[in-house]
Amino acid sequence: CGIVGYVGKRNAQNVLLDGLEKLEYRGYDSAGVALALEGGIRVVKSKGRLAELRKKLELQALAESRCGIGHTRWATHGEPSDVNSHPHSTPRVSIVHNGIIENYGILKERLIAKGYTFESETDTEVLVKLIDNCYEGEPLKALHEALGMVRGSYALAVLFKDFPDTVFAVKRESPLIVGWGEGENFVASDIPALLKYTRKYSVLEEGDLAVVTAGSIQFYNEFAEPVEREVLTADWDM
Ligand code: GLU
Repeated sequence: CGIVGYVGKRNAQNVLLDGLEKLEYRGYDSAGVALALEGGIRVVKSKGRLAELRKKLELQALAESRCGIGHTRWATHGEPSDVNSHPHSTPRVSIVHNGIIENYGILKERLIAKGYTFESETDTEVLVKLIDNCYEGEPLKALHEALGMVRGSYALAVLFKDFPDTVFAVKRESPLIVGWGEGENFVASDIPALLKYTRKYSVLEEGDLAVVTAGSIQFYNEFAEPVEREVLTADWDM
C-alpha cells in the first residue's frame, strides 16, 4: 500500500520510517523495512502499526545503513501477520510490492517444482522468488524477464544483495515516483513521503524501471530502452 526507498548519506532506517509515517493516511495493517548492510540485507517487519516496527528496530540496534526499502501493507492475499508482511526476500533479493499478481498460483507451482519453498500466503513472495530464479548477476535482466511472466498490477522497490548501493523501482498499474535529492535519491508511492527531503520528483510511466543510486537515477521503458522522464516540482505543503 505504501512504498518508500532511499539511497544516500543519511541513516536509511530513519528516512524510511519518516516516509512511511507520511503515507499512513492510506491505511495499512503491517509494516517492514529491508536495509543493505555489510554482510547482506537485513529485513525487519511486523504486523500492526509503525510503532511495532519501530520497537523491533530499536531492539535489533542495526548498524547504520545508507540504502533501503520500506512498506506499509494493505493485505490482499494472506491475512495480516508478521510472515505475510513485506519485504519478502530470498538470500539475494528483497522486494516491497503494492498491487496484485493475478497469475501467482501457476507461477508458484512452477517455482515449487524448481525447489523453492514458501512461508507466506502472499502473491508478493511468489514475485520475489520468480525474480530470484531469473537472476544471474544482472538485476535489469532478471527484473525484465520475471515481470514479463507476470500478469497483474505492481509498484515495486527492489534490493539486490550484490548491489548494496542501488534501489530498483518498477511500475505497472500502481503509482510510483522517484525523488531527486543532492547526493541522495528516493523512491515512493506518493509525494508526501518525500516532502521533508525534496520537492523534485519524476513519475514512472507504465512499464518503467528506474535504477536509483545516491548520485543518479536512470530510467528504462518497458522495452528496456534508456529513456528520460521529466523532473517536476511539488509546490504543495504537507
Ligand atoms: N498483494 C500484496 C499483499 O497482499 C500487496 C498488498 C499491498 O498493496 O499493500 O501482500
